[in-house]
Amino acid sequence: MSKLILVPTPIGNLGDITMRALEVLRSAGLILAEDTRTTRILLDHYGIIAPLRSHHKFNEHRSLEAVCDGIERGTLTALVSDAGTPGISDPGFLIVRRCLERDIPVEALPGPTAFVPALVDSGLPSDRFCFEGFLPQKKGRQKRLASLAEEERTMIFYESPFRVLKTLGQLASVLGEDRKASVSRELTKKFEETIRGTLRSLATHFSTTQPRGEFVIVVAGNSFRDHPEENDWQCEA
Ligand code: SAM
Repeated sequence: MSKLILVPTPIGNLGDITMRALEVLRSAGLILAEDTRTTRILLDHYGIIAPLRSHHKFNEHRSLEAVCDGIERGTLTALVSDAGTPGISDPGFLIVRRCLERDIPVEALPGPTAFVPALVDSGLPSDRFCFEGFLPQKKGRQKRLASLAEEERTMIFYESPFRVLKTLGQLASVLGEDRKASVSRELTKKFEETIRGTLRSLATHFSTTQPRGEFVIVVAGNSFRDHPEENDWQCEA
């Protein structure tokens, strides 16, 4: 039987694709792409010719069964999103779950995703962390923020340039203005930068510097102490 393979793609720098990802894309009988135009640019860059079909949050429910039928008939099917790892704040979960329900093998390749470099660049504890993705924009936002008040692990959020300032301000209200945090933007791209400080200093920075590009916010958990010897995670063998 054939299978579904989830293929991570670069989050900026086209060089950040693995050899195996390219092999899979070359041999796929069908590539499901969040935006076929974006994926075409990547495929053209690597001289890959493969059938592309759009698969995004507005049509994925409708196309699940047809995709699974195709795999069962023997079509090696790759799923890519616009950037990074499918299923991480991107379509992927539904098709994976449906394939597994139908006993269709699924394989997720390791590769680019924005939250790992942002976490490691932050300098905050990376031994235990929670990925919060995008906060709800309206309904449920305050409840979600409040649920993080006692979170001990390092927290990771995805954010758009239009909401990053608002989110930093709201995080400061719930977690405290002095909470350590970092903001990484445009990872792997020309204007990549990571700014480290407190929620207050980061909010101040972005109130005077217009946020541009793509953002990951990383926030220390409430057990974090700024003195390395006071943190359990520093004491591991
Ligand atoms: N699937 C992707 C992944 O594995 O990271 C995430 C896709 S999600 C729709 C897009 C969000 O990811 C952006 O709003 C931003 O928060 C984050 N992101 C993606 N690329 C980024 C980059 N180059 N620099 C910083 N953040 C990025």
